[in-house]
Amino acid sequence: MRDEQRASAATLESTLTDTAFAQQVEMVLSHLEDGLYRAAAVDGSVTFRRRSVVGPDGVGRWSYETVETTGRNPLADDGTDRLLGHAAERDAVFPGRTDNSYPHAHDSIAQLFDAPHAPEMIAVHTASHHFDDHLGQHGSPGVVQSRAPFIAAGAGIGIGNGGGFVDRSLRMVDVAPTIAAVLGMPVVGGIGPDGQRRPDARLARQDGDPADVLDGGTAHHVVVFLLDGCNANLLYDVVESGEAPNLAGLVARGVAYRRGLFASMPTATLANHTTASTGAHPGHSGVLHNAWYDRTRDITTDLLAMDQIHSAMVHLDPGVETLHSAIHRWRPEAFTTAGFEFADAGADFSSFAEIRVGDMPPFPRLDDVTHLSRAQAEASKKYQFMSMVDHTSAQQTIRAWRQLDGNPLPTLSWVSLALTDEAGHESGPHGAAARASVRDSDGRIGDVLAAVEAAGALPDTAVFVIADHGMEQNDPDNTARWDDALGASGVAHRQVAESFVYLT
Ligand SMILES: [Zn+2]
Repeated sequence: MRDEQRASAATLESTLTDTAFAQQVEMVLSHLEDGLYRAAAVDGSVTFRRRSVVGPDGVGRWSYETVETTGRNPLADDGTDRLLGHAAERDAVFPGRTDNSYPHAHDSIAQLFDAPHAPEMIAVHTASHHFDDHLGQHGSPGVVQSRAPFIAAGAGIGIGNGGGFVDRSLRMVDVAPTIAAVLGMPVVGGIGPDGQRRPDARLARQDGDPADVLDGGTAHHVVVFLLDGCNANLLYDVVESGEAPNLAGLVARGVAYRRGLFASMPTATLANHTTASTGAHPGHSGVLHNAWYDRTRDITTDLLAMDQIHSAMVHLDPGVETLHSAIHRWRPEAFTTAGFEFADAGADFSSFAEIRVGDMPPFPRLDDVTHLSRAQAEASKKYQFMSMVDHTSAQQTIRAWRQLDGNPLPTLSWVSLALTDEAGHESGPHGAAARASVRDSDGRIGDVLAAVEAAGALPDTAVFVIADHGMEQNDPDNTARWDDALGASGVAHRQVAESFVYLT
């Protein structure tokens, strides 16, 4: 931040951290100067610095030190075990800022400000803030909104004699390095988290590390199911109550991380689909959020707009590889698929690539959609539409595994399913629609795995089930907005995506 911007930022920060917005603003994040960051809340603030420390493995990772604290340190609790378990979360909805935790907060915050189009400040909503028509929400670094599920099973997966549910967590940046490792991809020495070369990288930009879930063997094939916006506690509860037999089968022969998979800031869709697919944080991948202000071109990029949603990868940093691209660098003849996935660069088959050239897939009639919760579909047009989309994503993937187009068996099939996010937003993660969406998705996962088995490839396949972020219930009575107060502050600014604040 330039010197003349500091006073403007301080004015906006004091507006947002006023007691008037104690129920809406969790904290305000800002990048003061190179390597120096600030988090401020109504009841305290912290300034912290980062520096690179090279570990015994030769990898430079960021280390964080607190420079100054006033009042309560908003980032003091970074526990990955808070609000763990479906009942615990449901019984403590709308956690206040002293009941919440912020896993990996320093790293998650600092990386975002590395992006050329990062805002000067980020206004973080409280857990309870109801700022659009959704009962479920995400985007903040709080533990519920950042916690996604993580299940791994099959070839190359194992943690000794254990398995099933384990008391562990990992980060979204670890997903792609884990997949690269289980496929046995070679070390190429890419760029690491601190922007310097890391000797152990398998990906061009690798902020994360392989998870402690590999048994030393390799898989010939990987299938990833990304259940968009699926609350981890909910998914695990549906599994443990016997409502999701296919997911339960994966947990039984593999491992599920009870504490979850933590998304990077912002805990939003485009940012973390790209992070999961590349191993690069949103601040490094080029896709820093669903929407941002592009200072160079003086335009606001909005990847949720229908004319941009299928083309997110035009923003991918040239120094960042998707798994699809990395697999082809390694094995040019390999075949990979991306079912309704934004981060599809380098995939041989991509649903969105077909849409980009005008080939909209023939969506099924609702009567032809399998694994459809009828009551939910009758109650919600959105539930209907996303069920048709997810059905198509699964069927396109199954077509590839049946090799109907003369293709080789996929080395990687990335299957994105969006119903869990749509239903989670609409009913909240503790609503009936969200629960039904997990059951429906389980059926589609079972169909894809049956096709992998029919191809004779299941014993050589590693299967991952993840989400891009969590989903948190909010309070429909907590609707106050801060936009007018920011406007009245007299500081010239623009706000993008309900949280990114740019000084103008
Ligand atoms: Zn999402």
